[in-house]
Amino acid sequence: MVNFCPNPNVKKVKNPLQTLPCPLEIRRSPQTKRVRLTLGADLILRLSAPMGYPKHRCLEFVHAQHEWITLHLERLTKAKENLEEILSAHEGEILLAGEWVSLASLPRPCPKSLRTLFQERLKDRLAFWSDQMGLYPERFSLRKTKNRLGSCSSNGALSFSLQLLFVPLEVLDYVIVHELAHLKHPNHSKAFWSLVRSHLPSFHESKIYLRQHHALHLRLQERI
Ligand SMILES: [Zn+2]
Repeated sequence: MVNFCPNPNVKKVKNPLQTLPCPLEIRRSPQTKRVRLTLGADLILRLSAPMGYPKHRCLEFVHAQHEWITLHLERLTKAKENLEEILSAHEGEILLAGEWVSLASLPRPCPKSLRTLFQERLKDRLAFWSDQMGLYPERFSLRKTKNRLGSCSSNGALSFSLQLLFVPLEVLDYVIVHELAHLKHPNHSKAFWSLVRSHLPSFHESKIYLRQHHALHLRLQERI
């Protein structure tokens, strides 16, 4: 799946150090080998730790990162301000396949027809990549999502986020190829990534694009 926020054993911690400028969530999972701290666009600190890693050690780790947290928080706050500027500069417009388009120039600018428009594009690209890869989903659906841009169920059904309406074609292609590749490899193994790479050698650029535009796409999705 293409996902921004996997959600295993998450525990919310109420600012225990009294010095943290934002909330902290500690997640422990058997897959995590070392402690890692991230700060998301939602301004929540997330600490990943191995199972059984003691809480006081987690808090010590966070405390030691205080300078990094302050710097990162400043950057994110600035990014949030920039996002507001972008949205107000494009009032009355919609981002379609990576291009800002005036809503007034569309024959039917209502959410329903935008959804239908995207559904058709998705269907075409899915048919194209299915033929290229020799992998065919049972069915596909489209839904509003927050963090998950695509997913593949064990019975071969694919699901895609409405947020993909906003992304350039090559980025949409990456998400489609990613989910189709899961029909063959239901994991993120080396074999999975090498299958994706064999069809889209520069897929990393699409991953970066999705990360950089996630906050914007979330806001735009609220409008449709
Ligand atoms: Zn995946």
